Amino acid sequence: MKKNTEKTNYLRSIAKFARLRFSIEERKAAEIYPFLASNYYLGLIGKDLKNDPVYRQCFPDARELLRKKELLEDPLAEEKQMPTPCLIHRYTDRVVLLVTNRCAVHCRFCLRKRNWKDGNDLKDISDKYLHEACKYIKGHDKIREVLISGGDPLMLETASLKKIIDSIVKIKNIDVIRIGTRMPVVLPSRIDSKLVRMLSKYQGLWVMSHFNHPVELTPESEEACRKLVKAGIPMLNQTVLLKGINDNAKILEELFRGLVKIRVKPHYLFHVDPAEGNIHFRTGIAPALEILRKLRPRLSSLCTPVFAIDLPEGGGKVPLLPDYCRGGRFLGINGREIPYFI
Ligand SMILES: *Cc1c(COP(=O)(O)O)cnc(C)c1O
Ligand code: SF4
Repeated sequence: MKKNTEKTNYLRSIAKFARLRFSIEERKAAEIYPFLASNYYLGLIGKDLKNDPVYRQCFPDARELLRKKELLEDPLAEEKQMPTPCLIHRYTDRVVLLVTNRCAVHCRFCLRKRNWKDGNDLKDISDKYLHEACKYIKGHDKIREVLISGGDPLMLETASLKKIIDSIVKIKNIDVIRIGTRMPVVLPSRIDSKLVRMLSKYQGLWVMSHFNHPVELTPESEEACRKLVKAGIPMLNQTVLLKGINDNAKILEELFRGLVKIRVKPHYLFHVDPAEGNIHFRTGIAPALEILRKLRPRLSSLCTPVFAIDLPEGGGKVPLLPDYCRGGRFLGINGREIPYFI
């Protein structure tokens, strides 16, 4: 039987799309940041290719070559907060464990492009590095939660992932494990019954998906989420706000409603991190807050994620809200200013 993550599921070269006539710059961008997409995800691309939300998330763009001193290889200074090779420790109570640099799709806006930009050589966490990370977590008993990330952790074989989770749950100070994955979106067949059964055995395990656009909500991706939720695994979603892709109240409303309908809670909406090659995806903070202001009267709290920016220099995530207060008067849902007795 073919494994879900086997090579035959992917396309690694834009050469297959010769008819699209890529420019020299686009080809150069694909050399620096190698193209990779699952056949399933490519199948979601509609007719209006170059404006398509799926196309734009995975195909190279000439603007990826634009350089600016504020756009960094490691925008969040993660490398400086790694006490062991695969572990990021920024907040007191939680750590990020990077278990692989492999993904089913290379998202052009990814904040960790540095981990996959130099080719597609396999790099999964070694036993040694896992051991070192676990030892560190054990030695810091204020750490309560481990976020398993990458790359995409579900690129690992189910048995390999189980081994990692088993090592973590053995640590007494750990109550919660969060797995960050794009698989329900980009390769939903990976959410097979063996994986779901394995994950459902752990208390305190959450899955965080990464849907960015309502066209990604397909019968297949919805079924993948349904399987996880039905097995008792709570699901959250993070979305990256992407210029020209989803920076629009109507699109986000449809996405968030679609997620809640399948019991996936929209958790975070992120402004694009200032990573190298990301400039054309950036919306700016003020336009983002304007979108949020429009969404507030239209969407329930269940449908509304927290909008946040992740600060450079490892400053962490900062939640942002439109300003509803004008010196003792507050903006009501209909836009009218109403005084409030304090
Ligand atoms: C995002 C992140 C976390 C988790 O933060 P939450 O706000 O709890 O989602 C933890 N560590 C690092 C390094 C992060 O980037
Ligand atoms: S799936 Fe996640 S880690 Fe992989 S390229 Fe996309 S954003 Fe980056």
